[in-house]
Amino acid sequence: MQERSDSNRISRRDFLGTAAVVGAGAILGGASRALGGAAAETATTTMPTRAFGKTGVNVSILSLGGIFNTIDNQLLLRQALQMGVTYWDTAESYGGGKSETGFGKYLGANSDDRKKIFLVTKSGAARTKSLEASLDRLQTDYVDLFFLHGISKPDSLNDDVKAWAEKMKKAGKIKFFGFSSHRDMSACLQKAAQVGWVDGVMLTFNFRTMVLDEGGDGRYKKALDAAHKAGIGMTAMKTQAKGMRASNAEAEQALLDAFTAKKFSLQQAALKVVWGDERFSCICSKMPNMTILKANVAAALDKTELSAADHAALRTFAEATASDYCAGCSDICDHAVDGQMPVCDVMRYVMYYNAYDDKHEARELFAALPADVRNRLTRVDYSLAESRCPQGIPIAERMKLAEDLLA
Ligand code: SF4
Repeated sequence: MQERSDSNRISRRDFLGTAAVVGAGAILGGASRALGGAAAETATTTMPTRAFGKTGVNVSILSLGGIFNTIDNQLLLRQALQMGVTYWDTAESYGGGKSETGFGKYLGANSDDRKKIFLVTKSGAARTKSLEASLDRLQTDYVDLFFLHGISKPDSLNDDVKAWAEKMKKAGKIKFFGFSSHRDMSACLQKAAQVGWVDGVMLTFNFRTMVLDEGGDGRYKKALDAAHKAGIGMTAMKTQAKGMRASNAEAEQALLDAFTAKKFSLQQAALKVVWGDERFSCICSKMPNMTILKANVAAALDKTELSAADHAALRTFAEATASDYCAGCSDICDHAVDGQMPVCDVMRYVMYYNAYDDKHEARELFAALPADVRNRLTRVDYSLAESRCPQGIPIAERMKLAEDLLA
């Protein structure tokens, strides 16, 4: 997907078109109304794009995260494309391949749309056979970007992986190579900036990580700068910055009050704060229904910038609820318990269960942990890890919660 297509250019009249009209204009009109009032008046009508690092490709600033039932939501895929959401993200592990199958179902029936889409998939390993299986499911000959999925160690970016990526590029199966990461992102990013053959990355980035960094010591900010300077395209994920509990009602109410006057939802404000960081080309968001798709597109089209007071409100919220959010600095806590425990991963699974309502996936991920880890979960002394945790998370308490929810 080099340039946005003409189908993404919607006239102002279409954009505000009558609800009776079914088509891109009406859809974007709905997106506009999802912001409402004054904010809608400041909206553009074309999905903005940004350069993706030094790849030479421009991508839509909003990406369709495919971790939902894409097989039965073909209309939503079409509507996302019509609304200018041309960066589509999936993984071989999403739904055990079903997410890719759903994207493939769409591409198989709409082959003319393939070139409009910047298609990304991921796998936990650099294996030709698994990439070919992904391409079969996706009903395409190539992906625009292949991510090694969820790396947490810089040595995942080794010479073997480099050689494989080059081979796959030469074979025309991938255009660009990179990785996604949830934890120890700073170390992985620094390595990526250093090796020079990583084209793109997808990372947790949100108003919390902006305020509190990863590890609370500025390492993430430095790593992001290094990666940006090296021309690595960056996509943000987990931009809603949800915590481990289902809600933080009191603190959220204060934030709600701050954004009500602007007609933003908290979710839209969280997106806008990330788009405010030009180092990131795109936000990847799970959008399993039209309500969320329209709201996110509306936020992308709206040109209102967040004020200093808005940023201050987000900062206050991030600080007040820090102990509910795991920042992914697993080098700090994984080794601060006897026999090692994947504390950071377990925290993330609790977050998936409680805040993202991905209960099935959360349980599956938890079940995939070694039995020894699951059995010892609440029998370990976490006091040292708790004393070092920059977020001040009551780790033992959260591990108990994990056992109650996920075991
Ligand atoms: S539990 Fe604390 S120390 Fe461990 S990864 Fe999360 S934020 Fe970092």
